[in-house]
Amino acid sequence: MELTTSRHLLEPDDGLAAWLAAHGQPAWRAKAIRRWLFAGRALSFADMTDLPAAVRAELEADFTIWTTSIAMHHRADDGTEKLLLELADGHRIECVLLRDGDRRTVCISSQVGCAMGCVFCASGIDGVVRNLTTGEIVEQLLRLARLLPAHERLSHIVVMGMGEPLANLDRLLPALALAQHPDGLGISQRRITISTVGLPPAMDRLTAENPGYHLAVSLHAADDALRTRLVPVNKAIGVEAVMAAADRYWEASGRRLTFEYVLLGEVNDSPEHARRLARLIGGRAALLNVIPYNPVAGMPWKEPTNDARERFIGVLESAGINVQVRRRKGSRINAACGQLRRLAAQSTTDRPPASQSPVAQTKEPNSSTAASTTPRMPPSHTAQ
Ligand code: SF4
Repeated sequence: MELTTSRHLLEPDDGLAAWLAAHGQPAWRAKAIRRWLFAGRALSFADMTDLPAAVRAELEADFTIWTTSIAMHHRADDGTEKLLLELADGHRIECVLLRDGDRRTVCISSQVGCAMGCVFCASGIDGVVRNLTTGEIVEQLLRLARLLPAHERLSHIVVMGMGEPLANLDRLLPALALAQHPDGLGISQRRITISTVGLPPAMDRLTAENPGYHLAVSLHAADDALRTRLVPVNKAIGVEAVMAAADRYWEASGRRLTFEYVLLGEVNDSPEHARRLARLIGGRAALLNVIPYNPVAGMPWKEPTNDARERFIGVLESAGINVQVRRRKGSRINAACGQLRRLAAQSTTDRPPASQSPVAQTKEPNSSTAASTTPRMPPSHTAQ
């Protein structure tokens, strides 16, 4: 896709209000246009049928709605759908829609690549390329919302895809504000989770500015030696500083913290690792998410055995830790962050495995699946 010089309508500084004034249009049209995009799931200005045709044509000439295109779309048997989006500069990012009962959760990316270097993660293998813009973050939400039928709404957001969200707070926070806004997606802040490896200065900024989000801190090890091996950025930070910053966030937010722990076979899954972890996080209002490692082709890490996993969890539960084992939804479509992007890069000449059931592979900017693409204009909504 060629880089465009027109203004991106999903950026906070899109200039829409000034444009409307300069074109003799009432200010309320800005709100109407946003409602068409967020609630009406419009693909283009042409879909905004209550705008005068001349205004629609002028908007089309001066603004861009979509800067991304869908490079790949996979759907798993459990309802999980994953999009590989190509950005205007040719880089690619991933985002996922997860269905669980009434929940419609999206997992979105915050950067192209990642600088944190977690050794088991496909997203960090090539380092960070750049931050996503606010508009690119919002586009992921809109692209995924369009996969839902008309009567369904996104209910939860987790910023847990490619990138370290706290390294891009300046662009992420305006995107999440738009997601919460009644004229946006109307998703309660309490249903938005920001995940981090633990960057204390940025955690403190969030504590000071906006502690209403659910914070998830990825630990993966309880001691500095092992954590630095698994999460290299830990070398300059240390587990103690991460926990202190998490505690400050908890004091400001009053919300239960979540700690994430990717369980790697024969690396961090012994009873002794569990005891150290229990000592580290014990005594806090916290949930521990244990995530059995999802094997990535070409990486040396193993999934833990069932016995090792049960022993690990047993030690923690005996110590009074609130543990949850996260199910690996969509594992057959490479739902772990970074996997689809790498697969696509490796398979430009190969066909993807049949088990991945590609739904669409297209560079058409406005493509999506059928059934959910008809623009419509429901009333304002707020997810429950
Ligand atoms: S696990 Fe998250 S923080 Fe670590 S390298 Fe991957 S994307 Fe970055």
